[in-house]
Amino acid sequence: MRATLDGKLRDVVGARTATALHEHLGMTTVGDLLHHYPFRYAQRGDRADLNALQIGEQATVVAKVRAVTTKPMRHRRGSMLEAVVSDDDGNTLTLTFFNQPWQARHLKAGRWGLFAGKVTEFRGRRQLNSPDFRMLGDSDDEDAGELVEEFAGALIPVYRATGKVPTWTIAKCVRTALDVLAEPPDPLPEALRDARSLMGYGRALHAIHRPESTEVLYAAKKRLKWQEAFLLQTTLVQRKQRAAASPAVPRPGRPDGLLAAFDAALPFTLTEGQRRVGDELAADLARAHPMHRLLQGDVGSGKTMVSLRAMLQVVDSGGQAAMLAPTEVLAAQHHKTITRQLGDLARGGELSAPDTATRLTLLTGSLGAAARREAAAAIADGTAGIVIGTHALLYEGVDFHDLGLVVVDEQHRFGVEQRDALRAKAGTPPHVLVMTATPIPRTVAMTVYGDLETSRLTELPAGRTPITTHVVPGGDGRWIARAWQRMTEEVRAGRQAYVVCPRIGDDEGADGDADRRPPLAVEDVAPELAAGPLAGLRVEMLHGRLAPDVKDRVMSRYAAGEIDVLVATTVVEVGVDVPNATMMVILDADRFGVSQLHQLRGRVGRGGHPGLCLLVSEAAADSPSGERLAAVASTTDGFRLAELDLEQRREGDVLGEAQSGARSHVRLLSLLRDAELIGQAREAAATVIDGDPDLTGHPLLAAAVAALVDDERAEYLEKS
Ligand code: ADP
Ligand code: MG
Repeated sequence: MRATLDGKLRDVVGARTATALHEHLGMTTVGDLLHHYPFRYAQRGDRADLNALQIGEQATVVAKVRAVTTKPMRHRRGSMLEAVVSDDDGNTLTLTFFNQPWQARHLKAGRWGLFAGKVTEFRGRRQLNSPDFRMLGDSDDEDAGELVEEFAGALIPVYRATGKVPTWTIAKCVRTALDVLAEPPDPLPEALRDARSLMGYGRALHAIHRPESTEVLYAAKKRLKWQEAFLLQTTLVQRKQRAAASPAVPRPGRPDGLLAAFDAALPFTLTEGQRRVGDELAADLARAHPMHRLLQGDVGSGKTMVSLRAMLQVVDSGGQAAMLAPTEVLAAQHHKTITRQLGDLARGGELSAPDTATRLTLLTGSLGAAARREAAAAIADGTAGIVIGTHALLYEGVDFHDLGLVVVDEQHRFGVEQRDALRAKAGTPPHVLVMTATPIPRTVAMTVYGDLETSRLTELPAGRTPITTHVVPGGDGRWIARAWQRMTEEVRAGRQAYVVCPRIGDDEGADGDADRRPPLAVEDVAPELAAGPLAGLRVEMLHGRLAPDVKDRVMSRYAAGEIDVLVATTVVEVGVDVPNATMMVILDADRFGVSQLHQLRGRVGRGGHPGLCLLVSEAAADSPSGERLAAVASTTDGFRLAELDLEQRREGDVLGEAQSGARSHVRLLSLLRDAELIGQAREAAATVIDGDPDLTGHPLLAAAVAALVDDERAEYLEKS
């Protein structure tokens, strides 16, 4: 029998194993299994392996048994078997087994074995409790018999495994599958394989699971990475070109319209960057093809201002513009700010208003039925030129009269599906502008937003004082006391402040991790501060579990200056704009990501007063967490911090957030380490698409791309 990658695992490894692989690792097909690449290759005498084990990690190690002892337990009945194992460098690890004296029969001193279990610490020493193991060379153990054969080959593949499906079971299934695998069709064009000296697909699959040498392994990885990068880039380039070729209504604006009136009344001059990006948008909107542009810029760099001007151009051309915010609070806030900024220009239909004026409509789920009907009517008959809401606008049966532009604020995911929804809404595709304050490294932009044009705002408007950030050692009471003292002074001077905690309260995450205390919680911290160091100040809480109307009320009272200190979760991360807030204390700051901290501190120092951000953490200054915090304190360069963030997160997380469909297709590729390869793959993809836009001459590639798009679609549908 020959198996294909699409073939069912059941037919290859048997029903019982297939069920286990499906239940515990989500695998259905032979391809699912063969794309589950080893994450490591164990070797006899692996250096530093035992040293590098992290507490809490699920580890598999190759080691030699040194000594085995059995002793009765001291405070309980039963016995404890303890085995000390070591690698060639003499690093040791202790294995403990409670009431399993028979295990001693297998654990013979001097023998090598593969040990798998969760790493724990006991009295400062690493250990594995009751690990699962296979001794190498056990003739009565079928799995181990094959392990020995692998072992001779020097590189033993180690797979991400679960307690139920250990690495050797996966290895065995992989071997079985490889043995019957028919040569898989190769989606990479031959010209590309030749030009880049890439090995064939089938050979690469064999080599990555059963490498004969490190050289062959390297070549296999290179080939498979190219496949990941190239397929993804081909998809994105094709999507971009198709979108760019589809028709859209040009919205060139007019010289004597709303935009002109708005510009004339602007109380400040636009920054150089705002003018440049503004011109790019104006030109895009005037074209007969839809704009798809990503605007990156730090918090406060003036993105909203730029997008508002684009919206006005569209209204001047007779169309409508919609702005989508990630939350209702933010939608309401945008509505308020933009109403204020437009002044009379937003009083369309009123007697005193100028002729050019339009109307602004806020449409959110918390509107009453009557207000909602009224808003929907204004959107449908076109009297509402600018509509502000959340993403629900796209899906909840809201009909636009003539939707010309969609601005997506602070959004990480606005993929092809959302655009399809828009197209259905608008008849012809509207122009789309996606804005984000999270600076995105170039390769991520190329991969995650590879089908968008990008613009960047790199300077802050004049008059902004950059924020000062300090790391405060959390264990030291005096420093903390000074922080609260300082906060009190800020409030006495008429300013406001934020205190950010990682957790809401007495439930989630409180017991997740046995080795650390639970993160500080809003519901504990707020009353303590109010009764203690911040006594006398008006302290209130804001977090995601409050009812939307309560949240709104707290936010608007804070904005109105009726609250001095807001103790909050990361709900304040995005878009909250209270210029009078000048100080932020982030507690347990090491629990947040670098970009998140950067985003959070962007909430203060938005007015004319300098901002101060204190990162409170118990992490040692020379620990990885401590170094991350120091980096955040040392620079306000968001792009630099974004790259740092990327270095520290798993790639899957980055992709997963933004374009989850791509996730299952990107396993080996590192957005950071493979930046060059990704760039080359994009060029190669563009060359292929330029010569063959529909890939008619590349049927295998076309099929692979279609499969990738289908997966993305399926995953999206599952989520929504
Ligand atoms: P972002 O959306 O990038 O966070 P905004 O567009 O909301 O930035 O701008 C932040 C604040 O700066 C707003 O209060 C806005 O009115 C103001 N602003 C925008 N552009 C300028 C400028 N060129 N000069 C001075 N202030 C500006
Ligand atoms: Mg904004």
